[in-house]
Amino acid sequence: MKFGIGGNKFRRAALEKAVKEVIERRAEQRTEDYSELLFQTEIDTCRGIVFATRVGNRQAAGIPFLFRSYTPFDDKSHQQRTAQADKPKNHLEGSKISLLKVALAATAAPLYFGSYRCTLSAAQMQASTRVPTARGTNISSARRTDSRPADGKSEYEFEDAGFSAINNPCVEVEREIIHHHDQEEPILVSIGTARPQPRDRRNHLVRVVRKAFTIAGDPEIAHKQMQTPGKEDRYFRFNDEEGIDIEMDDWRPRNTGRDTLNELENRFFRWLDRTEVRDELERCAKKLVALRQMRMETDRWERFALVRFFECRVNRCPKDRDNKWLDKEDFTNHLNRDHKPDDFEHSIDEVVKRSAREWEYRTPWDTPDTRHTGLTWIRAISNL
Ligand SMILES: [Zn+2]
Repeated sequence: MKFGIGGNKFRRAALEKAVKEVIERRAEQRTEDYSELLFQTEIDTCRGIVFATRVGNRQAAGIPFLFRSYTPFDDKSHQQRTAQADKPKNHLEGSKISLLKVALAATAAPLYFGSYRCTLSAAQMQASTRVPTARGTNISSARRTDSRPADGKSEYEFEDAGFSAINNPCVEVEREIIHHHDQEEPILVSIGTARPQPRDRRNHLVRVVRKAFTIAGDPEIAHKQMQTPGKEDRYFRFNDEEGIDIEMDDWRPRNTGRDTLNELENRFFRWLDRTEVRDELERCAKKLVALRQMRMETDRWERFALVRFFECRVNRCPKDRDNKWLDKEDFTNHLNRDHKPDDFEHSIDEVVKRSAREWEYRTPWDTPDTRHTGLTWIRAISNL
């Protein structure tokens, strides 16, 4: 690793260009203005959190910041019950933020790109009702209608959270999940990056700098915190503790990176060959499968797993514009209430089945011409 005096190793402009290219390649919608695409996942589907660390502002410096792909839950009575220490960080901010900003904040590695400064809405307080995830709950109780407008803008400065204590974000993630789902204790799977323990004997300055970051970003601290009695079946960590001594920006040879990738792959399979690693993977897989089987019993599962929704293509549908339903029961009610029996050629159950749509991850070989279509139907629309 080489550092310039008083500067960063790489230019932010190059990073920004790379991020934009990824967004362009993978985003659902196409837009001229990258800042408009939000870090947001579909309602009632799998959610994402991206971490950054706040810097600059003296009071907030070093505090983790959560970017959320969903609307945080806001309920005064619940908040009062939650002890201060168990409250998630910035729990009413960090949603509906531009994808580009989130990516740049999360990759603002000190000495590589430097910190990242941007403007965010100071209080994007979109209140929402509790999201039911307890087993057996129904999606129809998850309507979110109450919302408050954004309240002004503030300047924020961020750094890559990998250089802080939340390099292992398990503790924060657990707090967030428990806050949103009450007593529901999550199963957490933590995947490490096989970072070697500090033993650098090179140049003194580099050693000092690296040591500082190594300690600050030590994932083992959170790992130890998570290893409390009773969590043996709820917390799993997979990490090559011997570590792979490859720098973050190692890429050999420069044009393909083939040697670096081969080395990483070989080390990975060597680690995977260990009996204790395989046993632990199997133990974890069994827990996850059992949980998934329980979730599959609920009405919510198809929406969560397949991004299922229902689109009415029945003749003479009065809802010609707003003709999408997330919930099977609501859609069935629509068919019964807003349609006449002779609108369908099939039974209601069959119509429901044929109206189901699922989201499919856009394949990389989509041509630019088809990009703007975004959603791909994997079920052809048949005559209803
Ligand atoms: Zn209809």
